[in-house]
Amino acid sequence: MKEKLVNDTTEAFQAFFHSDPENIFLAPGRINIIGEHVDYSDGFVLPAAIDKYICFAVKKVEDSETCTFFAKDFDDSFSFNINQKQNPVSQIWVNYLLGVFNAVQESGKKTGGLQIAFSSTIPMGSGLSSSAALECGFAFILNQIFDLNLSRKDLALIGQKSEHTFVGVQCGIMDQFASVFGKEHQVIMLDCHSLEHQYFEANLEGYSLVLFDSCVKHTHLTSGYNNRRKDVDQGKRILWETFPEIEKFRDFSFSMLDAVRSEIGETSYKRCRYLLKEIKRVEKAAKALSEGDVEYLGKLLTETHSGLSTEFEVSCGELDFLVEKTVKENGVLGARIMGGGFGGCSINLIKDENVNEVIEKISAAYKAGFGIEMKVYRVKISDGIKEYKRNEFVI
Ligand code: ADP
Ligand code: MG
Repeated sequence: MKEKLVNDTTEAFQAFFHSDPENIFLAPGRINIIGEHVDYSDGFVLPAAIDKYICFAVKKVEDSETCTFFAKDFDDSFSFNINQKQNPVSQIWVNYLLGVFNAVQESGKKTGGLQIAFSSTIPMGSGLSSSAALECGFAFILNQIFDLNLSRKDLALIGQKSEHTFVGVQCGIMDQFASVFGKEHQVIMLDCHSLEHQYFEANLEGYSLVLFDSCVKHTHLTSGYNNRRKDVDQGKRILWETFPEIEKFRDFSFSMLDAVRSEIGETSYKRCRYLLKEIKRVEKAAKALSEGDVEYLGKLLTETHSGLSTEFEVSCGELDFLVEKTVKENGVLGARIMGGGFGGCSINLIKDENVNEVIEKISAAYKAGFGIEMKVYRVKISDGIKEYKRNEFVI
């Protein structure tokens, strides 16, 4: 499937630019085992890159001041002059890329002319982070082609900055970090406060992580994602005014939160309480994963869903339905909505021998309940962004 994507993207480049690309890059999407919405609240998260990618076919154009993108999946293109100051434009997909270029330009790094065609197997707006793959993929390309000497951490931060400044989504750092730092068979435990991270072997022998795509699409520009951040920010502001000695959000205790409850209001209280509980769940989940305690890991996933649905309120009828039905099936250890919410996928931890039966039953129930054909992705944990060479990966 990876080869087909590479071939299709190469052909798209040839058809659009009438020449051959010189480099191919693959930027993966990600799953997050647990730790939802805590990446912008000093929490821990447990993501991993997956075997779904945006593929970029690239050619450097000497002595040119023009950078041109061809987005095959939208059959749309965009060109800009690399020596001019960039501003957001009306084509939304372009802003993810222009924001990256702007961040690189502002850091004083010099680039040159480029032709890029790209295409993807990461469904857009399904919570698998196609946006981070797009931003960080382009940042990686600029770094590689023009020897910018940026670290992997810089690339993740540039991707996030692009989304904040040019797209207008106040995302955390998890998605970009996972796309850049992913490693095959490993999950990343990322401390979103310090950006320190460690890898854990994904000890899931005999079990599969299966994604059920509700096909309910979100865009975080309009989904309510930014409103959740406002609710949380209000709670944080008053917590810090009341307890200024606390350094990280995750160090507030539940009794401190209770002490400011009436001041911050019920909505902010619920949001903050979910976050504090979720951060603790991630630590427990990392331990369970490394000890191979899959049963407990599953319980934690389902607890997270209930928190996201009732306290953080970022689920929707379709995802609640999918999770509630799935956890009742044989061999299902846990399930939850994954990603920023308001649609997208559920992530399900299922015994290998039960996977097919669960897929069949849940697909039928979802079709009967909502008239929607659910999509299923059986994902493998894979490497982060890389240059692709036929028959081997480099870098
Ligand atoms: P998610 O990151 O969960 O997939 P987002 O709403 O954060 O969802 O980002 C989706 C947006 O990213 C799309 O609406 C589009 O603008 C851009 N995007 C992602 N993949 C592609 C692609 N293959 N081609 C063009 N734009 C893309
Ligand atoms: Mg996104």
